[in-house]
Amino acid sequence: MPGVALAVDDIGFLTRTLAQVPRFRRRERWSRLQLAAYQACALRRLRAFAYARSPFYREFHRGLLGAPLAELPVLTKRTMMERFDDLVTDPELRLREVQAHVADEGRDPLFAGRFRVAITGGTSGQHGVAVYSEGEWARLTAASLVRSPVHGSLLRRHRTADITSPNPLHMSTLGIETLRLWPAPELHLLATQPLGEIVAALNAFLPEMLILFAATGRMLAEEQLAGRLAIAPRAVLSVAEGLGEEARRRMEQVWGPVTFDAYSATECGGIATECERHHGMHVWEDLVIVENVDRRYQPVPAGQVGDRILVTALFKRAQPLIRYELDDSVRFATEPCPCGRPFQLIDAVEGRQQEVLAFPGRGGGIVRVHPVVFHAVLDALPVGGWQVVQDSGGLHVLVTGDVDDDRVRAALLDALRAQGAAIACLEVRRCAAIPQTATGKTPVVVHRA
Ligand SMILES: [Zn+2]
Repeated sequence: MPGVALAVDDIGFLTRTLAQVPRFRRRERWSRLQLAAYQACALRRLRAFAYARSPFYREFHRGLLGAPLAELPVLTKRTMMERFDDLVTDPELRLREVQAHVADEGRDPLFAGRFRVAITGGTSGQHGVAVYSEGEWARLTAASLVRSPVHGSLLRRHRTADITSPNPLHMSTLGIETLRLWPAPELHLLATQPLGEIVAALNAFLPEMLILFAATGRMLAEEQLAGRLAIAPRAVLSVAEGLGEEARRRMEQVWGPVTFDAYSATECGGIATECERHHGMHVWEDLVIVENVDRRYQPVPAGQVGDRILVTALFKRAQPLIRYELDDSVRFATEPCPCGRPFQLIDAVEGRQQEVLAFPGRGGGIVRVHPVVFHAVLDALPVGGWQVVQDSGGLHVLVTGDVDDDRVRAALLDALRAQGAAIACLEVRRCAAIPQTATGKTPVVVHRA
């Protein structure tokens, strides 16, 4: 956006971020030993800070203040939210006020002028609130600039197109807004736009860099194969939902080996990014300690897929997270990456891939609908949890909580019509709890043949 005037606050933020870049560049060349020493020291500092400033952690870790990390109790989203006011370390952060800020459509981008707020989806029945100070956000942004080939390219003014969530509080939206402060030629699209519109805009813009969700990447690869899309990106970054082998294969079939996966979580920001060797994703171990565990929270060795991970965000102070549980199944690689970076590799993230549903088009043909369309409708309604299931009988929407079924139905039909889909049967069903898969996951969009 050349010529756009930046606010004084933005200039301060950019200066702060760029000042961090050389530090992150140096870390790419650390030895494993240097990294371990840094982690141990950063963990000590985090715990000392939490015990001094957070009444919650003093109580939660009572009798364990000197114990190794692996002996500390696991923090769940439920506890984090229930004890929010005691857990955070800044007196201005009060859950009720943060939630009021989130609900205010005309809100300032920053809460209390100092904090960025993101929310997690309510698919498991409870929204989580994540808070970042400006300093914390600058560190995450600097790490992204150094560790992501696509983000780093913003400094070199490549033409970049992003196709992300319409939800302004989605982590991907916050990240993109930050990156937009850099003056690069940029096209911003929403994953909820009809596919034909996205294809036409990309054909006109011809991006060199693409930032998107994996499900959008799969759909665009098919459009390119069918001859409707004709772009030649030099790098495609998949964010938020896990790339998956199938999406990678399809994208590489049409664009070559240009896909990069990134693994992040709303609560702690970036977790891992893929390097130019494409052997997996390097964990941002200087910012977050990741423990791979089974259902009983016992450690899972490299080479095996775990049930969930526990993250300790070494850089977070406003809302410290120590052994915070994330419902993702990952596998650590057994071999180091040939690139020589000291950071461990995650070579698989399972259970995050979301299904794209296909419907007959109102104008004929087949219309594919991205899961973000369902998120946009259902996350905005006062439902507890939700799940969309498509089978031969039609579309079934399970919801928990106190919401009018007709309102859910009408909102979904509107959104699907806007996509050009013809919907023969849509049933909204209330349930006590969203059913889980055998592995304990609650997928939000499910297709059953
Ligand atoms: Zn590497």
